[in-house]
Amino acid sequence: MSSTDFPDAPIIVWFRDDLRVTDNPALNAAAASGRAVVPVFILETTEHHVPFGGAQRWWLHHSLTSLDASLNALGSRLTLLRGNAETVLSEVVAETDAGSIVWNRRYSRYGIETDTAVKASLKDNGIYAESFGGRLMHEPTQVKSGTGGAYKVYTPFWKAFCATVTPRAPLPAPKAIAAREIWPASSDLDDWRLLPAKPDWSGGLQDAWSPGEAGARDRLEAFIQGGLARYDSQRDLPAVEGTSGLSPHLAFGEISPFQIWARVDQVADGMPVDEVTTFRKELVWREFAYHLLVNFTELKTTNYNGQFDQFPWAENDEHLQAWQRGRTGYPIVDAGMRQLYETGWMHNRVRMIVGSFLVKHLLLDWRHGEEWFWDTLVDADPASNTASWQWIAGSGADAAPYFRIFNPITQGEKFDPQGTYVKRWVPELAKMPAKYIHKPWEAPLGDLLAAGVKLSETYPRPIVDHKQARERALDAYQRMRGLAA
Ligand code: FAD
Repeated sequence: MSSTDFPDAPIIVWFRDDLRVTDNPALNAAAASGRAVVPVFILETTEHHVPFGGAQRWWLHHSLTSLDASLNALGSRLTLLRGNAETVLSEVVAETDAGSIVWNRRYSRYGIETDTAVKASLKDNGIYAESFGGRLMHEPTQVKSGTGGAYKVYTPFWKAFCATVTPRAPLPAPKAIAAREIWPASSDLDDWRLLPAKPDWSGGLQDAWSPGEAGARDRLEAFIQGGLARYDSQRDLPAVEGTSGLSPHLAFGEISPFQIWARVDQVADGMPVDEVTTFRKELVWREFAYHLLVNFTELKTTNYNGQFDQFPWAENDEHLQAWQRGRTGYPIVDAGMRQLYETGWMHNRVRMIVGSFLVKHLLLDWRHGEEWFWDTLVDADPASNTASWQWIAGSGADAAPYFRIFNPITQGEKFDPQGTYVKRWVPELAKMPAKYIHKPWEAPLGDLLAAGVKLSETYPRPIVDHKQARERALDAYQRMRGLAA
């Protein structure tokens, strides 16, 4: 059966991580069929599956509100359901007399397993199901290495991607969506309590973001008009708005990579090639992360490089908490962790610095970092988060070599030379001279006094000494290699 040949009965469109009406292949196919369309979103809560961290729950609330408004404008509406996907879908099929269900594919292990089971059970019950590709520019099993397997290294993947994938043009939003006369029973979004209360910590998120499809489009346009032409030169400077800020919109599928790619194509001619190519390469890093996730389904929990199963990780709750709260005594690390806590996002360069600090300076297992990011990032993504943490830890595919340990002082001096970024997120250091902003413990007493900084009181001393921590990490690495040999 093809998508133009749906049974003569309502079609359910199951929204998941594709909360948009433009360039949404599943929605387009359903709308084009002329059948009545029932858009649903299911909050899939199961014993073993926590679908969203705290920051993303906030985002989800607003994104669902925005999607419902977009559907309303097309004559439709979003039905909200909660529970086990298979059970809930069979109920809504019965309630609406639907003959088919369509969705856009997702690629986390949970997503693939659930969708496979749902498809089989729908088929057993005579319901037609069809899935579409809308989240990625390629299907993660589509790009194969010379030996027919998966790529482990990015550059050859990028070359193969360029040689084999031509991103299609984005699809327009449907002009109208046919509806049934009666809508299925829907949960009230407020009853899901996705927004934080008592305390409401979402003020920083609200200031920083506009969840929803319109917010995504505005963000893309602002970047196309501003940052893209300087992307390669500025993307490593955390004090500058040099990157697109599209990651949470991509995580929720409020915009597709096809839309971004096509918009970049439209303006690329008048721009320096390197700036545009570097941006495209970053978008393809996202595709690579999914390539790894789909070809190594245990990526979230298991070291890609099994040698790391022997790594002598430390256990230290005090250190973990100091890292989470931005109280390590290393200003660039603390600035990043506070930016994350307040806005749900952190600059990529700083993610690398804080990640390296956790696994190398503190010797804490990368999975602690992955979990914390999962809970606090608005752009938490099952592929990019895990692949990036494994990359940082040295345990991943194409990982940074373990012995390359980011120095939080020199990284700060190189990428935030005036300390502008640090001063913004660590205001107790706002008056420190640039010379000492990344190492306040070396500042003469007079400078500390003039800046109003009392070490250990207003700002912590370093919780580990950089040189000693570096040696300890290298020792641990050697021990692991000995144990794993
Ligand atoms: P831009 O620089 O504007 O890039 C455009 C898009 O390309 C991004 O929105 C993103 O989708 C993609 N991209 C850019 N860099 C990467 C990368 N290194 N890997 C994969 N995709 C990339 N990104 C996430 O989207 N979700 C995560 O959960 C996540 N966790 C990370 C954890 C660690 C430890 C590290 C080091 C990186 C992580 N990243 C993650 C990758 C990267 O930091 C973010 O994608 C980027 O900072 C998002 O900001 P932006 O949209 O302004 O990016």
